[in-house]
Amino acid sequence: MSPDDLTAEAERQLRICTACMYCDGLCPVFPAIDNQHRFELSDLAYLSNLCHNCRGCWSVCQYTPPHPFAINLPTTLAALRQRSYADYLWPAALGHAFRRPFLSIAVVVSTALLFTLAAVLLSTSPAELFGADDSAGAFYRVLPWPMMAGAAGASLLWAMLCIALATVRYWRATAPPLPTNAILQALRPAFRDIVTLRHLGGGGPGCTDIDERPSHQRRIAHHVMVAGCMGTVLSTVVAAIYHKGFGWLAPYPLLSLPVMLGGVGGLAMLVGIGGLLTIEQRADRQPSDPHEAQLNVAFLILLALVTLSGLAVLALRETAAMGLLLILHLGLVFGFFLALPFTKAIHAPFRAAALLRAAAEAAISRPTARKPGD
Ligand code: SF4
Ligand code: SF4
Repeated sequence: MSPDDLTAEAERQLRICTACMYCDGLCPVFPAIDNQHRFELSDLAYLSNLCHNCRGCWSVCQYTPPHPFAINLPTTLAALRQRSYADYLWPAALGHAFRRPFLSIAVVVSTALLFTLAAVLLSTSPAELFGADDSAGAFYRVLPWPMMAGAAGASLLWAMLCIALATVRYWRATAPPLPTNAILQALRPAFRDIVTLRHLGGGGPGCTDIDERPSHQRRIAHHVMVAGCMGTVLSTVVAAIYHKGFGWLAPYPLLSLPVMLGGVGGLAMLVGIGGLLTIEQRADRQPSDPHEAQLNVAFLILLALVTLSGLAVLALRETAAMGLLLILHLGLVFGFFLALPFTKAIHAPFRAAALLRAAAEAAISRPTARKPGD
């Protein structure tokens, strides 16, 4: 569908929903379109990121195909969502990468792997690379610490810069015409909605991802994956403090804080990713956009590869395979950061911005409580 056709189709469906409003209460999309009859491109970018693809409206709608109204909001909003990622990404030229997520990620990650391999070959001897060594500083005899930290820092900085600028562009286009004070007051409820994934609860019973029976599976899998990810980030921070603050060099003992946080965090990530991939694979295809499914799966597989390679380094660090596994893990980590801006990860800040606007508008439209004597 061309961009103009997609815009026209989204407007057509949203106008019917505005007249119907049967789904009001299912998610924040419906309060946001109440009484709205015209939808600018920025409104569509906002609404599409407010939708979290729970398919609740699909399972209760009386106007889905074969009804002539042919309402399919989850699919239409998913297509708009992907367009918003490409439209607001910085640098804009990278927007094309969203069209072929597997290919884009494969190109970036394999390039990062090749550079990592070249850096290792230039800086270490075959004896260091293939020898079994788990004494202090063994990882840095494969790739010196300044090169490892420099590549990780530069690729992470690139990801943060691109995602931050894309989010600023998205927010500028979709921000509500409200006083700054109203936006600031909405930060707290929006933060609560983001952290608890409140809307994945579908107003209580959960999402209808797989069939019409609501469940909390996606919300739980998402929480487990994010908690695991935070564990691995914390592990890296603690390891950096050990290294720079105390001069204690990795690898650390199995019962040390960085290893326990990284190990448990990595396993939790795999459980969460496995849950999300299973839901994606079993999900009802009709109310979904196949391209968005590709974007989700490509990102989850990349995250799983990074996690698995990290756990493999941990499990086999005393063997001769450690050197090659470390190259694989570092290359995947650098590639992950470099590819991050054009993966599904961009949905997180865009959705956070959309939830902030929804919270600010909800606070403004909420009737003020009557005071005694009014
Ligand atoms: S999705 Fe269907 S039932 Fe829900 S508001 Fe729109 S038209 Fe009405
Ligand atoms: S799929 Fe879920 S979140 Fe999206 S519009 Fe329908 S009810 Fe709302």
